[in-house]
Amino acid sequence: MLGLMQDWQLLCHRIIDHAALYHAERPVITRSIEGPIHTTNYVEVRARALRVAQRLERDGIRLGDRVATLAWNTWRHLEAWYGIMGIGAVYHTVNPRLFPDQISWIINHAEDRVMMIDTSFLPIVEKLADRLKPIERTIVLTDAAHMPATTLRNAVPYEDWISEADGDFAWKYFDENTAAGMCYTSGTTGNPKGVVYSHRSNVLHSMMAAQADAMSVCSRDIILPVVPMFHANCWGLALTSPMIGAAMVMPGAKLDGPSIYQLLDTYRVSFTAAVPTVWLMLLQHLEANNLKLPYLKNVVIGGSACPRAMIQKFQDVYGVNVCHAWGMTEMSPLGTLGSLKPEYASLTGEARLDVQMKQGHPPFGVDMKIVDDSDRELPRDGKTFGRLKVRGPSVARAYFKEDRNVLDDGGFFDTGDVATLDRHGYMQITDRSKDVIKSGGEWISSIDLENLAVGHPKVAEAAVIGVRQPKWGERPLLVIVLKEGQSATKDELLGFFDGKIAKWWTPDDVAFVDEIPHTATGKIQKTALRERFKDYAFPAVAHQ
Ligand code: ADP
Repeated sequence: MLGLMQDWQLLCHRIIDHAALYHAERPVITRSIEGPIHTTNYVEVRARALRVAQRLERDGIRLGDRVATLAWNTWRHLEAWYGIMGIGAVYHTVNPRLFPDQISWIINHAEDRVMMIDTSFLPIVEKLADRLKPIERTIVLTDAAHMPATTLRNAVPYEDWISEADGDFAWKYFDENTAAGMCYTSGTTGNPKGVVYSHRSNVLHSMMAAQADAMSVCSRDIILPVVPMFHANCWGLALTSPMIGAAMVMPGAKLDGPSIYQLLDTYRVSFTAAVPTVWLMLLQHLEANNLKLPYLKNVVIGGSACPRAMIQKFQDVYGVNVCHAWGMTEMSPLGTLGSLKPEYASLTGEARLDVQMKQGHPPFGVDMKIVDDSDRELPRDGKTFGRLKVRGPSVARAYFKEDRNVLDDGGFFDTGDVATLDRHGYMQITDRSKDVIKSGGEWISSIDLENLAVGHPKVAEAAVIGVRQPKWGERPLLVIVLKEGQSATKDELLGFFDGKIAKWWTPDDVAFVDEIPHTATGKIQKTALRERFKDYAFPAVAHQ
């Protein structure tokens, strides 16, 4: 017997329809790439998205065709997403921070027919033009007055291009499992892998994200997604915000401390989200200029582990609640979020911080478990760590153009992370499986050590890698960038770990460097560090 409810396919353009109808006047404010602040609203975004859809169709773009976007978070990028999805074409966010070779590789692999691009990224793509075979047309996300001279084939300013469509157009309707978007993982090992989101997975993911114990956002919020749309769908916020009718503030190309502070303050932003590096820049700016954050209520921090000192500072100094979150491109991306359940809600001080250092608990729609190397499930005791596996309607089951099944027999996806789960469902990452340090057969968590090290007042950034050592197999090496104008000794830094970790976890040495390499998504590039220090020899150290 079937239920007798309506068949209302979960299509992403229904989100912008809803926003335009029920949250019509809510502002979408952008720091434009051209400079000035631009303000629009959901009615306008929808109207212009319809013109994008109509115009794409006139260019011959059809169901399933891929449209690349190399763009910052702006109202134009938002319109473009909905316009592309509204005819069943597929937005493909290209991360402009990738190496040029990777950019051309993924555009060719995805067979993008059209490219929508911000003026800031033209120089990167012009150099690659000969290699971008499938691109038939380039739409530069600006108006005629700001259109730079470009060598790119068939390039037109976006505003001219959509003005050729009158908007008298209706969305297309199709199966909710139709592809809506694509994003390639950064491919730290091997070629990047294409993750393909469906309309259904995007809509369900947005509903998950909006829950009070997830992002906890609503129509009264003013949301600043600092995390770019090209980084794992800006954690769903380009879909979640219109779905719930929240106002949006889009940062454009400027993610530095002063620029983000100015948006937070001027537009009374209540909710924001980004990787720790962005918040490091903001906090430095606040401290240096004695500024406050009177309007901001919640900040979601994820993408890499959030340092304890950062949570503490946001909460104790600025009165902003931190929600530590974890996810990955393959998960649309949300996996866990760190709201406090009743079991933990009354904790204070260090005990509360201990829980907030965990990456949080999964919303409905994400199943997770940890397993050992023989795939046996491990206890949820908050101590035992193992490979983290996940399952759900917004988790990838395969990569684009790859036949290989990436799921295990139970339908679980191996995240490549090593984690603990506690009895209340809170997950804590100890490492990526390829970064974990194996010393004398035991695991040392590089993330724990890095988190502690960045708590040292003189340290700007820290990375810990395993380096070969004859007796123990591997030992941890602490790689440090000091804050400007600071100096520190090795003993001073290593002494900082005393009493905070098991003695044998203490790194055997410290390497002071000017810069730590990062991936295109802002993570520490451990592969590059391991390569740099592969012939490194530790001084003699007595281990207890
Ligand atoms: P990429 O692998 O392409 O850089 P992703 O954004 O998909 O991009 O990376 C996902 C990975 O980032 C996770 O598997 C995990 O290792 C790491 N990660 C994400 N959030 C956190 C977090 N809060 N703490 C620690 N690691 C995190």
